[in-house]
Amino acid sequence: MLIIMRPETSQNEVDKIKEKMEDLGCEVYEILGGDRHMLGLLGDTNKIDPHLIKANRNVEQLIHVREPYKKANRIFHPEDSIINIGDGSIGGEKLAIIAGPCSVESESQIVDIAEKVKKSGAGFLRGGAFKPRTSPYNFQGLRDEGLELLKIAREKTGLPIVTEIMSTDYLDKFIEDVDIIQVGARNMQNFELLKELGKTDKPILLKRGMAATVEEFLMSAEYIMSEGNERVILCERGIRTFETYTRNTLDLSAIPVIKKLSHLPVIVDPSHASGLWWLVEPLAKAAISVGADGLIIEVHNDPANAKCDGQQSITPERFDSLMKILEKLAAIENKTI
Ligand code: PEP
Ligand code: MN
Repeated sequence: MLIIMRPETSQNEVDKIKEKMEDLGCEVYEILGGDRHMLGLLGDTNKIDPHLIKANRNVEQLIHVREPYKKANRIFHPEDSIINIGDGSIGGEKLAIIAGPCSVESESQIVDIAEKVKKSGAGFLRGGAFKPRTSPYNFQGLRDEGLELLKIAREKTGLPIVTEIMSTDYLDKFIEDVDIIQVGARNMQNFELLKELGKTDKPILLKRGMAATVEEFLMSAEYIMSEGNERVILCERGIRTFETYTRNTLDLSAIPVIKKLSHLPVIVDPSHASGLWWLVEPLAKAAISVGADGLIIEVHNDPANAKCDGQQSITPERFDSLMKILEKLAAIENKTI
C-alpha cells in the first residue's frame, strides 16, 4: 500500500499517520517524491481500513501495490537508485564497467588483466575465487588464495573488486575483503544466503537465476532489501531456453522491463549470456542500447589456456576496442563511460 499525501501536508501530520500505521503493525517507509510525502506500507496491511485513510483530509491518494516486491518496487522509490562504491558508482549517468577473468588463476594473471582493463576504462575488477562449477572435477577456484590475489590486484590498480560468495561460512571474510559481493545465478534463490547478505551494508551484485522470471528475480532482491540492505545491483546474464547454439539466451527485454518495475540498477553479462567470445561485443552494444546501467565482461590475457570460460572471454585488446565503441553508444543514451 502506498499513501500519497497532499503537497502542503506538514511533517507533523505525516508523522501522525505514520504512527497510526505502525501501531497497526506495519513497517512504514517514508518517501519524498518531488513536493509531496509518500508513505509505503510493508508487512500485513490487512488490519488497515482504506476508507479511514482516505477520510483523512491530508491524504490525496491510496494505491494498492499489487506486486509482491515492495522495497525493490519503483512505486516506493520513483528515482533511479545509485549505489556508491568508493569513488565509483553503479546506476545513474555513468555506465559501470566490470571486467576481469572468470576465475583468478595466479598473481601475474590477475594483476596483468587488472592493469589492462583499468587502462581501457573499466571501473571495477571481477574475478572468481570460489567457482560454482557444474562438475566437481573441474577447477573450483583458488578460494582463499584467490581472494588474497584479488586484494593485491586492487592495491596495484585501485579498482574495487567483485567476486562471488557461495556460502555464509565466508561472509565475514567477504565483508572484510570484497567491495561488491556477487551472488551467482545458481544461488539467486538461496534465501538463507540472501537474508544474511541483507544484514550487511555491502553492495550486492545479484545475478538472475537461469530459470527465474523477472518477478522471482525481483523477489530475491527483496529478500536482501527486506533485511535492511538496499544496495542491490541486478544482473541479467541470460536464461535457459530451447536454443542450444548459445550457452544461454540473453533476455534483452528484461532490462527495460526491470527498469520500469524497479529503481535498482541493472547491468548485463554478455559473456555468460552467450558463451561465445565473438558474441560479447554485439550483445554488449545491444545491452547499452536498451538502457543497461553497465556490463560485466570476462576478459582473459590467454583465453586458450584459461582455467574456466576461455571460450567466452575476450582479450584485453578486444576489450579496449569495445570500450571505444561503448563510449560512442553511451553518448547516444546521454551517459558516459
Ligand atoms: C560468474 O559470473 O562467474 C558466474 C559463474 O556467472 P553466473 O552465476 O551468471 O553463471
Ligand atoms: Mn565464467
